[in-house]
Amino acid sequence: MSSPRIALVTGGAQGMGRSIALRLARDGLDVAVSDLPSQKALLEEVANEIKALGSRSLAVFADVSREDEVNSMVQAVVQELGGLDVMVANAGIAAFRSVLDTTTEELDRVYSVNVKGVLLCYKAAAGVMIEQKRGGRIIGASSILGKKGWPMWASYGSSKFAVRALTQVAACEFGPYGITVNAYAPGGIDTPLLRVTDKEVAERTNVPEGTHLNNLTAQTALGRLGQTEDVANVVSFLASKDSAYMTGQTLAVDGGVWFD
Ligand code: NAD
Repeated sequence: MSSPRIALVTGGAQGMGRSIALRLARDGLDVAVSDLPSQKALLEEVANEIKALGSRSLAVFADVSREDEVNSMVQAVVQELGGLDVMVANAGIAAFRSVLDTTTEELDRVYSVNVKGVLLCYKAAAGVMIEQKRGGRIIGASSILGKKGWPMWASYGSSKFAVRALTQVAACEFGPYGITVNAYAPGGIDTPLLRVTDKEVAERTNVPEGTHLNNLTAQTALGRLGQTEDVANVVSFLASKDSAYMTGQTLAVDGGVWFD
């Protein structure tokens, strides 16, 4: 019997990252999770849940916007778990602001996590996968806001367009090594991030809390917000051997808001 493949999920302490990590463990992979040190308790809880499912796990702390920390994170996974087959660059932050109100500080903050963080994770993972010579799966978090511009999402939306571009470039460059690179583009998914954003929208635009969630729901063909498992199911496919002939794609997982 071959040994389990090894995955690493960033932003794994909560929200989609947590569900993706648990789903990959249920799929039989060993799964390392990483997040910021401020998420220590939650992250260790996820690692323990993964172990309880019978997989090996590891909780690693890293800020994905720092190259030294991303490289140490990937090296820790290779050393402790024995390699890396699936990288899920899931960590991201949101910002709800118009073009006119976007400061350069905010643009730098959002891009440092959502763009630089994804590039660093793709780069570090591909370095290991190329050396291992057994192919791999690299997966990034875009958004439906990375497929279409929406008002008030200046820095965030453009950062998620950048994830699509990076995914396409990396797919071309790593294809010869048997590494596929794809991204998921969630719509409104019920996570801590979405709840915080709903509060921000209420404060900034003087509407009752819940308005953002209701508006997102109303835009879906299916008439409901997404659950983290809806996204984890799709990432499970992207991480699997069944997605072997698919690369450079960004899949909308949004209940039917954006149609390609
Ligand atoms: P979340 O805020 O609930 O979880 C994100 C995790 O990433 C947190 O644990 C956070 O601590 C971690 N993180 C933030 N900055 C980090 C950094 N610099 N280094 C390492 N970890 C960091 O978010 P979520 O809703 O689960 O979102 C996951 C991904 O999906 C993000 O990239 C987000 O932009 C994207 N997304 C979310 C939605 C949605 O509706 N929730 C929609 C589209 C795209």
